[in-house]
Amino acid sequence: MSTQSPRVSIAIPLYNEEQGVSELLRRIRAVVEQLPGGPHELVLVDDGSSDRTFELIAAAATQESTIVAISLSRNFGHQSALSAALDNVTGDLVIVMDGDLQDCPEVIPELIAKHNQGYDVVYAQRLVRREGWILRSCYFWFYRLQSVLSNLRVPLDAGDFALLSRCVVDELRHLPEHHRYLRGLRAWVGFRQTGIKVERSERFAGESKYTLRRLLGLALDGIFAFSVVPLRVAMILGLLTTLLSLLFAVYSLYVKIFSHRSPEGFTALILVIVFVSGVQLLFLGMIGEYLGRVYEEAKGRPHYIIAKKIRR
Ligand code: UDP
Ligand code: MG
Repeated sequence: MSTQSPRVSIAIPLYNEEQGVSELLRRIRAVVEQLPGGPHELVLVDDGSSDRTFELIAAAATQESTIVAISLSRNFGHQSALSAALDNVTGDLVIVMDGDLQDCPEVIPELIAKHNQGYDVVYAQRLVRREGWILRSCYFWFYRLQSVLSNLRVPLDAGDFALLSRCVVDELRHLPEHHRYLRGLRAWVGFRQTGIKVERSERFAGESKYTLRRLLGLALDGIFAFSVVPLRVAMILGLLTTLLSLLFAVYSLYVKIFSHRSPEGFTALILVIVFVSGVQLLFLGMIGEYLGRVYEEAKGRPHYIIAKKIRR
């Protein structure tokens, strides 16, 4: 699969990262210069930033022929910006990474070395996270819950930072789904995959662009796009309650006939009604999550719109 010195494309989405862009470019240049072969390529996608991010990457793209600067027409979100980057790379190998230097560019040669051992996907698995303990344990449990719910083997603690070979990128491009959860889709396409352990650094500058709401949205995509287990749980739970209520009906009848008294319990009655309606609403909401996703797909809107593309 691997040619001697393949062309490497590095795909990076950026959203309000003006403080970190020049440092990012400096560190990537230093790494790329050491790579054999070439010319390599850096595809930077500005995801509708409101600061000077695009100005900075556009200036770099007009000076250097190896840099491609793309501006999306508004903020479409990390996963869509990543898809835009993947749709515009031309290299034989593609490195997907964040633009906040949490993914160290210095790891790229290691990823390539692993690829040269015959792997089509080499993802980075985090040894240590530098986030607060609440977020860290949320990540920890999310990845584990997801692997329990889906029959797809998504590697634990692997983010988007990865090397993809051309065939994988081509397959990813052909996947039409809107709620993209790329680290899941990457596992879904298959081929030979492996991970290497890396330490995740702190952000070079600025703050995380993932608000709690967005993080939750991504987590829900990760679960609902790869599992129908929640729907099945509703069915099993429904079956159990039906069975239980039948048993109780038999018991009530027995008591009525043989001891001539009806079972009492107003409080218990209210509790059961409230509990069961709660469960029903919960699963209705869950079905809604799937339905909403079907609706999004049916509309068939593009995942992003490119406003400008600068390639010398
Ligand atoms: N990002 C983006 N669009 C967004 C949010 C984030 O392109 O709507 C970019 C961001 O600039 C960064 C990468 O996606 O390069 C990862 O985002 P961030 O570092 O905020 O996420 P975290 O590392 O906290 O999960
Ligand atoms: Mg980050």
